[in-house]
Amino acid sequence: MHNMKGIHENRIRRLNNEDIIYEKGPVVYWMNRDGRVHDNWALLYAQERARELKVPLVVMYNLEIGFGGGGLRQHDFKVRGIREVSEDLRKLNIPFYLLIHQKKNKDEKGQGKEMHDWLDSIDAGLLVTDFFPLRHPRAWADYMRKNIEIPMYGVDAHNIVPTWVTSDKQEFAARTMRPKLHRLLPEYLTNFPKMRKMKPDNMSAIDNQDINWEDLLTGQKFSYDVSTVDWINPGYTAGMSQLKVFIQKRFDVYADERNNGLVRGQSDLSPYLHYGQIAPQRVAWQVVQHVDVPIEKILSADRNGAASKNSAAAFLEELIIRRELSDNYCFYNSDYDNTKGFHEWAQKTLNEHANDKREYIYTFKAFEDARTHDELWNAAQREMVTTGKMHGYMRMYWAKKILQWSRSIEEAYQTAITLNDRYSLDGRDPNGFVGVAWSIGGVHDRAWFERDVFGKIRYMAESGVQKRFSVKEYIAKFPPEENDEK
Ligand code: FAD
Repeated sequence: MHNMKGIHENRIRRLNNEDIIYEKGPVVYWMNRDGRVHDNWALLYAQERARELKVPLVVMYNLEIGFGGGGLRQHDFKVRGIREVSEDLRKLNIPFYLLIHQKKNKDEKGQGKEMHDWLDSIDAGLLVTDFFPLRHPRAWADYMRKNIEIPMYGVDAHNIVPTWVTSDKQEFAARTMRPKLHRLLPEYLTNFPKMRKMKPDNMSAIDNQDINWEDLLTGQKFSYDVSTVDWINPGYTAGMSQLKVFIQKRFDVYADERNNGLVRGQSDLSPYLHYGQIAPQRVAWQVVQHVDVPIEKILSADRNGAASKNSAAAFLEELIIRRELSDNYCFYNSDYDNTKGFHEWAQKTLNEHANDKREYIYTFKAFEDARTHDELWNAAQREMVTTGKMHGYMRMYWAKKILQWSRSIEEAYQTAITLNDRYSLDGRDPNGFVGVAWSIGGVHDRAWFERDVFGKIRYMAESGVQKRFSVKEYIAKFPPEENDEK
């Protein structure tokens, strides 16, 4: 039920059994996955607890340089968003603290210990964090949960229906997840309350930290070079304006155009959603307001899911059902990031075809440099390398071909994940792990006709792409650079 300030109590989990010690210092929100001030259930909850305990509220962000194989491209997008967070917090009289970790000390213990020491140094009284189902952030939270001596709470500020509420197990496919979410969404898909402005003396809860943003943005070293992109601006304000433009100008044709790689038919919101710069729940709420139809009607009108011809139904299927299904997979499957996570039928069929002759075999480098025999594949790779986004439809083709042209299934999996995380702005996300696992390992899919290499995993051919849009025009959109070797 909705308790404090409209925050659903099921959204909040108590993560340890430490008691409140009165007369302690601030409530701290450790911002991790949800890098925004507005529409953030974890921050709203932290603020309510600070008010209740009559103590200050502080926000801390734990930045790992090069997290999950990202480089400058992802770092820049994330850090610019965080800088906006610090400014938005200041307007509400909430101090912000940034802890920075270099990759070399990325183990949970090192990170956890630094956070723990910092909490001690400000005499924090209660810790709130958001929900991030991936391995490393989970291990950090686990370390904190076990080691701190103050109460710790986790709040799912990312999913509309908290992952642990939708289901208590790994869901088999969208068709098993969908009815659960359809039932729960009318209760959870609400508008957000606004954050309150704190009294000015809240700012003195911790010493002012002078963050050198320019140095943080430009002075870091990464293990490989991937440039920033300029077609999309990071941060809450930019994300909300992108959402507005999408709803006003492109939303009505989403159902028809989203699979067309030649036009801008998708929302392009995934980088904002990945870094938590805007809330998926805000996006869904705005869409429902735009079409002015209750969520239960949108969902019940059309049972075709992603294939729907209705833009609201098709978009909410992707934004809610598919996205939250990815979190479900990563949360409940400890092998979400390797091929052992695939369903048994898929592992069996892939193993049976492990020694099938591959017509082409490419190294990681050949894939990375877009040097395959297939100009369509190369164009998709170049789209991702140059823009930070590969069209959603092409992502499936791209990953399936990596399976077809790799020496082994494990190698294919690693190649796809590494390239996706290195070049995509929205990489290192549950959606990426699931997108690759769906393409290569049949996760959330069913068995198809058996064929070489793929076994019963669904196959995709260039002719399938051609049915959606002109392959020739797509290739022309992302030509090789003049000096590219053939
Ligand atoms: P829209 O079509 O406008 O959809 C709106 C939102 O719905 C997206 O931002 C996303 O949050 C969600 N969504 C859309 N399609 C899917 C899907 N198939 N599964 C889960 N959620 C979905 N998505 C990522 O966010 N990060 C990734 O790293 C990623 N890697 C992928 C890798 C492969 C091999 C495949 C097949 C898919 C991958 N996806 C990934 C899913 C999907 O392709 C992208 O979410 C989508 O193309 C992003 O563009 P958009 O925001 O314009 O999407």
